Amino acid sequence: MTTTRRLAEQELTTDVLVVGAGPVGLSAAIELGFRQVDTLVVTDQPTTAQHPKCNTTNSRSMEYFRRLGIHESLRQAGLPAHVQRASAYVTRFCGEEFARMPRPISNWPTPELPNHISQITLEQELCHHAHAFTGSNIRFGHRLMSFIDSGPSRQYPIEALISDPSGQTYTVHARFLIGADGANSLVRKAIGAQLHGEDGSLERSFMGGTMLSYYIRAPHLQERSARVPAHSNWIINPHLRGLMFAQDGQERWVVHYQVPPGVDWRELDPREVVSSLLTNDETLRKQPDLEFEILSGGPWRGGLALVADRYQKGNAFLVGDAAHLFTPLGGMGMNTGIGDVMNLCWKLDAVIKGWGGKHLIESFELERRPMGLRNAGFGVQCAAVMDGWQVPTNFEADTLEAHEARAMLGEQILKEDAAQYLTVGLQLGERYESSPIVMTENMPAPPDTWDELSPVLRSGARAPHVWLSPGVSCFDHFGTGFTLVNLGQPDAVHFLQEEARLKGIPLTIFSAQDLAPLATPEGTTSLFKDFYTSTLVLIRPDQHVAWHGEPHELSTPIQAKSLWSLVCGEFGVGFNSDALEMNTQPDKHEHSTGVNS
Ligand SMILES: Cc1cc2nc3c(=O)[nH]c(=O)nc-3n(C[C@H](O)[C@H](O)[C@H](O)COP(=O)(O)OP(=O)(O)OC[C@H]3O[C@@H](n4cnc5c(N)ncnc54)[C@H](O)[C@@H]3O)c2cc1C
Repeated sequence: MTTTRRLAEQELTTDVLVVGAGPVGLSAAIELGFRQVDTLVVTDQPTTAQHPKCNTTNSRSMEYFRRLGIHESLRQAGLPAHVQRASAYVTRFCGEEFARMPRPISNWPTPELPNHISQITLEQELCHHAHAFTGSNIRFGHRLMSFIDSGPSRQYPIEALISDPSGQTYTVHARFLIGADGANSLVRKAIGAQLHGEDGSLERSFMGGTMLSYYIRAPHLQERSARVPAHSNWIINPHLRGLMFAQDGQERWVVHYQVPPGVDWRELDPREVVSSLLTNDETLRKQPDLEFEILSGGPWRGGLALVADRYQKGNAFLVGDAAHLFTPLGGMGMNTGIGDVMNLCWKLDAVIKGWGGKHLIESFELERRPMGLRNAGFGVQCAAVMDGWQVPTNFEADTLEAHEARAMLGEQILKEDAAQYLTVGLQLGERYESSPIVMTENMPAPPDTWDELSPVLRSGARAPHVWLSPGVSCFDHFGTGFTLVNLGQPDAVHFLQEEARLKGIPLTIFSAQDLAPLATPEGTTSLFKDFYTSTLVLIRPDQHVAWHGEPHELSTPIQAKSLWSLVCGEFGVGFNSDALEMNTQPDKHEHSTGVNS
């Protein structure tokens, strides 16, 4: 791997400058480092996050992290096993629990179920891996002040002005700039992108407008609640709505409180807010086992569903919260950002290494912006459901009537709130339909639903996961570049391999011969073939299917060349892949090209 080169005291050169070391910028650094792309990360914060926001790394993000070999360390750093992966619905943290929703997701078609991990711990872990993958090219306390992009004529067209912790400035020259600089992104403003969508001004019972968040330490709280520890605790009573996420399974939580309409959050007493979420019993509040310390806190805005109108200008790109801001119900903000970087980084690598086509990087916005729009709506829809939860005034009383009211609301919530968690389709079903770098499908697209996923072999979709042996997914056999699954004869892919070699495209073949030794009495091979229904399947570095078909479609050099041209981005927007040589009839094809295998 090359290292960032120092030109003069105040000038550095790198292939990719990543701005922001939140979870998305750090994931970009890891992915680029994994691909041996020279990368420099600058972030204006002195350390990784000290105040937690997100709590769930979803299945798809964990699949990406599995590919990078860091999934196990992230799981180990996650919440301990004794904390139930469940939502508890309570009147107060130490009040009555009236419903509990587990996560019946063990049958999801993925090698990686979601991981429950505090953003504080996640960022520490990601930072550790990013240091290892990039050769410690991560600079804390370094802020992007401005940048210019002088276009395609220069080898390093990005010229970025960075200030270091002492206020000294220096210049970074880069081929590409990734703006992972969060909600107030300077890069977004610099490329002239605007956010559009719901801005949180709609009044909601929960997760609308101003929210307060506190990170607390309360050593005896869990014991005092006398409840089985749950990952998330939803606090619902006639006076307030709140939420507490376990951070370490012992004594730390992040607490969220809905600031009532018309109330100025600055006039609220933070200790009073936190106490009110824990109990309504004045005597209990004063007891030592309810003692808590507020470690950090502040306001944030709920009810957002905002997506930038562009994700790219020239050599600068937006990812994560810089590109889209969601209300966090359903946990899609960071996870969509991780999807962004896993889509972008292999393309930058391809261009840097010389095998990426001239339109490849344009496909980033064409593929990922529709995903931002798709995923943005989910959080606000979950918030709208919560508006319908009516809480009678006697809800917290110790009476039969109140008990019945709690039971009824509990039943309603279990029915209505399940959608927030049972998002297998949302997490694993992203499809790059109508992308210029995947083959057009002739079959109509199956519905894209949040709560269901039928693994489908379809260009643009995530390749189906199949367990090949205990603990081994077919994904584990895919390469870091393209993978060609060949369930036919070895020579069926000769031309594709040869063309890849000539162009320097990294290609791994996963063949019927590789599959055979993995056959089990339960029928691994036939199970695999149930999902991989074409003889040949070309899978991109991000595990999405680029093309699938039959050997006759790749039986000449020109067909192989055409396919690589398409999937490596030689053709721009509006190109119809039906026009490719490989899609013409074999006899006509041979006649038209004069090339005969
Ligand atoms: C209450 C809550 C709960 C959430 N739960 C989930 C969840 O469970 N799952 C999920 O997927 N998402 C969740 N989210 C959303 C998630 O936290 C964000 O989507 C995620 O933090 C975005 O990561 P990022 O790296 O894009 O941006 P950030 O985390 O905001 O990081 C951007 C970094 O860039 C730095 N920066 C900014 N400007 C500059 C500059 N000019 N120069 C250098 N550095 C700069 C910033 O200081 C910051 O460190 C939640 C959000 C909230 C509010």
